[in-house]
Amino acid sequence: MQHTLKLVSQYDAGNNEYTIFRHNLSPEEADEAVRELSAKLFGLFVIDQPAKHSAGGAELCSACRRQVERSSHVQPKPKFKRRQV
Ligand SMILES: [Zn+2]
Repeated sequence: MQHTLKLVSQYDAGNNEYTIFRHNLSPEEADEAVRELSAKLFGLFVIDQPAKHSAGGAELCSACRRQVERSSHVQPKPKFKRRQV
C-alpha cells in the first residue's frame, strides 16, 4: 500500500516568501500539524510529496524547496526563508 506523503509550508504573500515546517508526514499528521500551527500562523498549506525526502529536517531539505517552488503558481518564484517560530 502506498502512502501519500505531505509537507507543510507557509506562504507569506506580502513578501513572496515561504517557510517549510514539516515533511514526510502522513495525511493525518499533516492535518494535525496544520491544526496545531494555525493557532499562531496564517497562510499554511499542505503540498503532496511524490517521494519520501531523505533529509532529516524539513528546514534543511532542498527537496521540499523544489516541491514548493514547483507547486506554486506565483511569479516571480517565492523565496525560501528560514522559519522564525
Ligand atoms: Zn523535504
